[in-house]
Amino acid sequence: MTNPLFDALFAPHAGQQTPFLHLPDGGAIGYADFLGMAAQYANALDSLGVTPGDRVAVHIQKSPEALALYAGCVQRGAVFLPLNTAYTPAELEYFVGDSGAALFVCDPGEVAEVEGIAKDNGCLLYTLAGDGSGSLKDLRADQATTAAVAERGEDDLAALLYTSGTTGRSKGAMLTHRNLLSNAEALVEAWRFTAEDVLLHALPIFHSHGLFVATNVSLLAGGSMIFLPKFDVDTVLARLPEATTMMGVPTFYTRLLDDARFTRDLAAHMRLFISGSAPLLAETHERFAERTGHRILERYGMTETSMNTSNPYDGDRRAGTVGFPLPGVEVKVCDPETGAELPTGEIGVLEVRGPNVFKGYWQMPEKTKEELREDGFFITGDLSMIDADGYVTIVGRGKDLIISGGYNIYPKEIELFLDEQPGVLESAVIGAPHPDFGESVVAVLVAEPGGTLDLDGIEAATRANLAGFKRPRHVAVLDELPRNTMGKVQKKELRDRFAHVFQ
Ligand code: ATP
Ligand code: MG
Repeated sequence: MTNPLFDALFAPHAGQQTPFLHLPDGGAIGYADFLGMAAQYANALDSLGVTPGDRVAVHIQKSPEALALYAGCVQRGAVFLPLNTAYTPAELEYFVGDSGAALFVCDPGEVAEVEGIAKDNGCLLYTLAGDGSGSLKDLRADQATTAAVAERGEDDLAALLYTSGTTGRSKGAMLTHRNLLSNAEALVEAWRFTAEDVLLHALPIFHSHGLFVATNVSLLAGGSMIFLPKFDVDTVLARLPEATTMMGVPTFYTRLLDDARFTRDLAAHMRLFISGSAPLLAETHERFAERTGHRILERYGMTETSMNTSNPYDGDRRAGTVGFPLPGVEVKVCDPETGAELPTGEIGVLEVRGPNVFKGYWQMPEKTKEELREDGFFITGDLSMIDADGYVTIVGRGKDLIISGGYNIYPKEIELFLDEQPGVLESAVIGAPHPDFGESVVAVLVAEPGGTLDLDGIEAATRANLAGFKRPRHVAVLDELPRNTMGKVQKKELRDRFAHVFQ
């Protein structure tokens, strides 16, 4: 009997009494009990007629029950499909319809809004709340705490994970047992996770970061997690002394730095802080190092591939870079037009190949063909550069590249310059349609708290330091940049908002 993911992540912990999840109320769930819950979910799915390969779509709050349902899906051979808790019923309609889910698990509070969606798509509807109650919980509570393990192959799907929708409509990435397991193995090795580790987990579990990076790594290493419903700075500060490691999006780290209670002493016992899902500003990395003595380890990945590169555990963690390819992963920088590999130091589109690279987009054969080459390289769409030491730097997304009067403009170069200007907290640079140049540069600035911006001074500085075609032709000041729950700046939103400034 084989089920690669179950056999590696869950089965080895059978009967183990050590804690897996430390809860907000101070209690804990041990591995043996967690596996019992997972088996009950597997049995519950079986009783509902969910068979291996069926999609189980979940739109539920983060909770130990939700994580046990993930484990139950793996055990039952079902394809776990977590959906962003922020999605509205109109969005859910697309995901449930597109995925052809057999079962839809929603929050009890939204049944009235989504029961039509389940009905129209012929799928079962059950509920699970953030406090662990709900009709699916009731069903699992009546089941046996051991269950058969469904037979699965390495290439069978374990999850269908939709991308964040930063550049357009979210696409369903088909992730196999091999994809997820190989990545967990690479990360445990690269980041030295062991059974002694206690990971502070304040990320959502509908995204690759919180579900696969954090959870699968902890499971494979046999460690435990302080499992918090969300990032709340008071709670994180209170629980940090129990943790050995933390994974976060860059905003977690800026929020910690903004709090005077986050001191060197508080972080002294920590083994590792990891950041990803969005670019960590070099300035944040340096401030963090000054405050705590720890260099945040930045890594880079995406829904379609899980993690691709990471700064080294031992050795130089370079601010502003995402480090080296993980064991088993190949990366190259290619010409966006011809696909030819570019020499060291040149900017192009990053392509990746390895056991981590997904099987394709769900029911999008054309899109899959465009982005997944026959030789196995996946075209990430991220512009990047590899330096002579082999460090990868993400320069931005191909879709954010500005082409003005025939010149390529990399927003990040201008953002880094603007961020250094007095009073600027952060910035976002986008292109807006321009009658003469095709596109021209718009800079959106956010002032430091309590400060005002000297826009004339900033304009003079750009004039003195940036080539004419790169200079922002329109500057706007906002209270904050639009971001999604993973801390990703929503440039599409900014482009829509400033679409008419030159016309
Ligand atoms: P969509 O593909 O639907 O437009 P998305 O690309 O934001 O959305 P995700 O798969 O969640 O969806 O995010 C992957 C992207 O996040 C990467 O392609 C990259 O642009 C960005 N990213 C992740 N980690 C980093 C990092 N450390 N530095 C810079 N960018 C990062
Ligand atoms: Mg993407």
